[in-house]
Amino acid sequence: MSCINREGPAIDSPATGPAGAGFNAPDRMQPRAPARVPEALKNGRAVKEAGHAPEGLYRPDYRVMTPAMRSPEYVQMSTAAAITLGLVEGRMYNCSCTRCLNLLLTYPEGCRANCAYCGLARHREAERNYADRNFIRVDWPAAPMAEVVDRIAADLDATPFHRMCISMITHPNSDEDTVTVLKTWTDRIDPDAIPISILSNPTTMTREDIVRLKEMGSDIFTVALDAASPAIFDRTRGKGVQSPHSWATYWEAIHMARDIFGPSRFGAHLIVGMGETEAEMMEVIQTLVDMGGHSHMFCFYPEKGSLMDHLPATPRDQWRRVQLARYLVDYCGVRVDQMRFDDEGKIADFGLPASELAAIVDSGIAFRTSGCPGKLAEDISACDRPYGDSPPSDIASYPFAPRPADLRKVRHQLGMERPEDPYVPGEELDLG
Ligand code: SF4
Repeated sequence: MSCINREGPAIDSPATGPAGAGFNAPDRMQPRAPARVPEALKNGRAVKEAGHAPEGLYRPDYRVMTPAMRSPEYVQMSTAAAITLGLVEGRMYNCSCTRCLNLLLTYPEGCRANCAYCGLARHREAERNYADRNFIRVDWPAAPMAEVVDRIAADLDATPFHRMCISMITHPNSDEDTVTVLKTWTDRIDPDAIPISILSNPTTMTREDIVRLKEMGSDIFTVALDAASPAIFDRTRGKGVQSPHSWATYWEAIHMARDIFGPSRFGAHLIVGMGETEAEMMEVIQTLVDMGGHSHMFCFYPEKGSLMDHLPATPRDQWRRVQLARYLVDYCGVRVDQMRFDDEGKIADFGLPASELAAIVDSGIAFRTSGCPGKLAEDISACDRPYGDSPPSDIASYPFAPRPADLRKVRHQLGMERPEDPYVPGEELDLG
């Protein structure tokens, strides 16, 4: 018997997807239109007018007035990071901690962009103050940056963190405040002890901004491209949702990051299942590898309160195919032109002999969360984002090394089940 909560949006796993398609088709994946935000709630006005001074840690609670917190003095962090840092109590399924300290800039005005899949998007002003919004399925507590640094610096040798990441948002002050947050960190913590990543905001950044972040000790620069085609980008984070981002600007930032940070020190986030074909997604992944970079992948999950919260999560068969193919391209030297795709753009052949492919599947690394590396191996991400793209009851990205039962489930989802070692539905839930 498992005590895992199996609630959440229905996931069309393992092998069907909406209407039996086996993938999230483009005509289905349409965001709803953003509603009008009342003037009294725009730009964090309620928070600014209430003017409640923050008093240390703030845990998101939309039943009380949100304090007026502002970077660079304050930052938000993932629930996993706050638990690991000892700021809040909690436990995560089969994980004792997270290896990445994700810091998110925060302002009463919040992010000024309106990305359709994102819990932080501007349209949410209508229902929730910025620091109270869920993002990648969890709350993001806020704390003074000085306290975050104090806690790490107090016992650097014992820190569980393998990496720190500053997540910029779209705000007029975010370029300058990222520099200040970074300096607050590097004044006390050697970047060689805990390498630093920047999750950038290309819409406001210049080449000089990127150079400055590199010179200040950042190790890896990433761009949240998220969409795999110009049309999906525009529909989900450009003009389609009154958001300021453009495909061209984001690619320009990726090219600048390659020039400034160098091979394997830059990458792009991609979300699988927003209406692209698997062939389109793999083409972007190959482009990034050909440039010398990496892709960091997320499985689309309908974030509550977002403009896509009515849509289905990515069917697990689609997700696993792309997850495995991305690992082959990023770390195993396989090229997309060795793979074969069917008429709907689905991966029909991974381009490797069955025995080699089976060994890679069995190692399980391909199915772990992808992101900037930690201290274990280049292909094991520090940024494990526990349950950021799925509930623990139907894991998309494993924040731990998949166990034998998890791998039986993965093989089942991939259509690679071994008759002599079949998956028993739900067996992995009884382990934890
Ligand atoms: S820019 Fe980033 S934080 Fe802002 S709405 Fe888009 S995805 Fe969310």
